[in-house]
Amino acid sequence: MDRPSIIHKDLAKQRQTPNWTAFEDERRRFSWQFAHLATQRLPGGGINMGIEAVDRHAAGVLRYHVALRFLSRTLPAIEISFAELARLTNRFANVLQGLGVGKGDHLFLLAGRIPELYVALLGALKNGTVVTPLFSAFGPEPIATRIQLGAGQVLLTTDHLYQRKVCQIRAQMPTLRHVLLVAEDGGVTHETDTLDLATLMRDASDCFEVSETSEDDPALLFFTSGTTGTPKGALHVHGAAVAHEATGRYALDLHAQDRYWCTADPGWVTGATYGIIAPLLHGVTTLVDREEFDAERWYTLLEQEQITVWYTAPTAIRMLMKAGPELARSHCYPALRFIASVGEPLNPEAVWWGQEVLGLPIHDNWWQTETGGIMIANTPAFDIKPGSMGRPLPGIDAFIVKHMEAEGEPPRVRIIEAPNVEGELALKSGWPSMFRGYLNNEARYAKCFAGDLYLTGDLARVDADGYFWFIGRADDVIKSAGHLIGPFEVESVLMEHPAVAEAGVIGKPDPMVGEVVKAFVSLKAGYEAGEALRLEISAHARKRLGAAVAPKEIAFLAVLPRTRSGKIMRRLLKARELGLPEGDTSTLESGA
Ligand code: ATP
Ligand code: MG
Repeated sequence: MDRPSIIHKDLAKQRQTPNWTAFEDERRRFSWQFAHLATQRLPGGGINMGIEAVDRHAAGVLRYHVALRFLSRTLPAIEISFAELARLTNRFANVLQGLGVGKGDHLFLLAGRIPELYVALLGALKNGTVVTPLFSAFGPEPIATRIQLGAGQVLLTTDHLYQRKVCQIRAQMPTLRHVLLVAEDGGVTHETDTLDLATLMRDASDCFEVSETSEDDPALLFFTSGTTGTPKGALHVHGAAVAHEATGRYALDLHAQDRYWCTADPGWVTGATYGIIAPLLHGVTTLVDREEFDAERWYTLLEQEQITVWYTAPTAIRMLMKAGPELARSHCYPALRFIASVGEPLNPEAVWWGQEVLGLPIHDNWWQTETGGIMIANTPAFDIKPGSMGRPLPGIDAFIVKHMEAEGEPPRVRIIEAPNVEGELALKSGWPSMFRGYLNNEARYAKCFAGDLYLTGDLARVDADGYFWFIGRADDVIKSAGHLIGPFEVESVLMEHPAVAEAGVIGKPDPMVGEVVKAFVSLKAGYEAGEALRLEISAHARKRLGAAVAPKEIAFLAVLPRTRSGKIMRRLLKARELGLPEGDTSTLESGA
């Protein structure tokens, strides 16, 4: 279907006056120094993410406002107010202190989306303890590797996960001094060499003297998704809260009265940063659904929980699209006013699906584990060009650069001023949530910088209006007969075909042209894989992209391999196609 290339914002039709409406003015006015004023600060001038997110509101008008609301199929809803969260997190901080775990020590969290995980993360921050949430679906090896890398002293998990995954690898983690267990049946645990969290929490005091943390003190260690290789541990500091607050305001348009749902698991940087910290900083009620993806359930939650702001990922949107528009239309969403997405490029098809089926366009935004917060976004303050990841937020300067260094030299780049030239996306260093290092990998960290520019490893272009367009990861770009082909462009066109639910595109080595484009597609319900359909999709791609860029080969897969954070793993499609070793698959979603 031919659609306009722009979705205009009509302020009069917005359900809530946005936090900002004038893009240029706000960017001009903004400074990080000024943004710091939105945070409370500790008496000595320091900043603590836990205090900012919880105690600030617990001491103010939002004291009895619901901070977190947990839902599951089988248990009654659990609601925790800011006052209660302050009390519980104090208790957990006291538990850590009682165990001799202090500032700079390292806590790992391995659990589903249970209240204890949220309390522990925030309580540890108050104690100055560095926190890493892990995906609860990780197997023993990825758990051990990450705890070894982070030299974790404490692990919080559940009795079931401990028995299934941790018990047998305990000896591989000599730094681990304490394992705290949550009894899944709500009782008390008696595993040897572990401590029962409920008992410790019951005996701990409600009062806690917060640890003096400065803006440069480490707070969180997140592992990257492992889309392009072995996941890297990126270290973040307490001062990042300033960026979480600002980006929550500009990119997610959070207001204290919102009912907000971030569908990402806290095991991924998005789930911890925008599923816990940023909404709490804004005093927002955050929904936590403990269940896995289910289209019918998600629509019901959006409707019945009266979600106002929804932050999700392209993979989830594609799964909802796959379930068909009728299901979406059997519910209504009068409260919903803003939808955002992150993690992968959002195909224009998906932006329009939001507009047509849910009544709201989806706002794509871009960031990385390393940037610690949203950098480039579609926001309420300007029109959307579907397919573009938006414009840099206030306080963020983004550029397209070309590399100048010779092989083996440290990076040296030139900024490309002209619009629509493809190159690497780079950001001017200095925003507060920028990572401060890769764990045990100084050399890799150093390679990310050219002077004061942080090099993202993603290729993009910027148009004359300052909108950024994602081309692909530097590793994924296909070189065919002198053309540089971004997989995203090809995948987006494939997704326009009514039968295609998802597409992943790779370059397959070819003696004549270097690489040929090969596409893997999964189909929507009601479509049968077969030669006729293959030819039809191929013809559509050729018509839209031309013969040089359209896939030469198309294969059907029931599901594409993706990371637990929902990203298509093109490197795995390629390794499987070429019969090469699959490399690190610790983050691969099971069943793919
Ligand atoms: P690894 O670094 O281990 O290979 P990863 O890069 O996927 O994994 P994350 O930090 O979770 O780990 O993801 C950041 C990357 O995701 C970005 O560098 C970019 O490639 C991609 N990404 C995120 N948001 C978007 C977006 N809106 N559009 C396009 N790509 C995006
Ligand atoms: Mg990365």
